[in-house]
Amino acid sequence: MKIFVTVKQVPDTSGKVAVKADGTLDRASMQTITNPDDLNAVEAALTLKDEYGYKVVAFCMGPPPAEPMLRELIAMGVDEAVLISGREFGGSDTYATSQIIAAAIDHYGIEEDDIILAGRQAIDGDTAQVGPQIAEKLGLPQITYAGDIKKEGNTLTVKRILEDGYMMIKVQTPCMITCIKELNTPRYMTVSGVLGAWEKPLTIYDYPTLQDHPLIDKSTIGLKGSPTNIYKSFTPPQKGVGTMLKGDGKDTTNELASILAAKHII
Ligand SMILES: Cc1cc2nc3c(=O)[nH]c(=O)nc-3n(C[C@H](O)[C@H](O)[C@H](O)COP(=O)(O)OP(=O)(O)OC[C@H]3O[C@@H](n4cnc5c(N)ncnc54)[C@H](O)[C@@H]3O)c2cc1C
Repeated sequence: MKIFVTVKQVPDTSGKVAVKADGTLDRASMQTITNPDDLNAVEAALTLKDEYGYKVVAFCMGPPPAEPMLRELIAMGVDEAVLISGREFGGSDTYATSQIIAAAIDHYGIEEDDIILAGRQAIDGDTAQVGPQIAEKLGLPQITYAGDIKKEGNTLTVKRILEDGYMMIKVQTPCMITCIKELNTPRYMTVSGVLGAWEKPLTIYDYPTLQDHPLIDKSTIGLKGSPTNIYKSFTPPQKGVGTMLKGDGKDTTNELASILAAKHII
């Protein structure tokens, strides 16, 4: 019984965002963090582990400096971390990324009771495509925007949170679920977890490990195999300061109404 959690290391965009001359993120000069939604996915996995005894395995595709992030997840309670890393994988877009992660999870071995948890969205790429694409490539059912997950046998009941309400969905395992921040509050690392985190082996999946998997084909991974091309990137101009209306409620309401009427908005 396993839970696979996909975890991406992302630049910390809450601080100063460094952009290179070509408009791409200068990742090397920025601090990195664990993608926030992925910590909610890890917490959901650990909560299910506490209750039902799952083995939790984190999968990250990224360069070797992602290792300390994976060690932090082990210190939180993750049982094993797999780093998918290799030059052949570099420059992958979401299509190629999900293909490689799907192959890696399948290579590890998916069984009837297993669950794949991903964050809803990465704060750098922001597409929210990778989790659903992993499910598609593995032929698994998927539920996105999970705000609650309950287990009964090999059926999960998931509360799917939408802008204007929610849906309750039952799904059979194996399945893939994307997690949002409303799901839980991620736990801290424990002291014993931190002390033991570097003792545990880190599993590395490089290109030779995965090259014979049917999903892995040099023409569909890496920069050359990625169908998405960045045509242009730019920093949007800052919005103006806006207009402040001062006075009591009646005056400002009338003034606002006449401004909107002048612009033909009302
Ligand atoms: C042409 C091109 C080249 C690119 N080259 C690079 C590059 O060299 N380096 C780079 O960092 N990005 C690169 N990107 C961006 C990269 O495609 C995306 O960041 C990546 O595919 C994930 O998409 P996303 O960030 O939108 O993730 P989302 O789909 O928003 O992520 C959803 C969830 O999927 C999981 N997930 C996503 N990515 C990973 C991952 N790598 N490992 C584990 N779990 C993950 C996480 O759980 C995450 O919360 C490139 C993009 C393009 C179009």
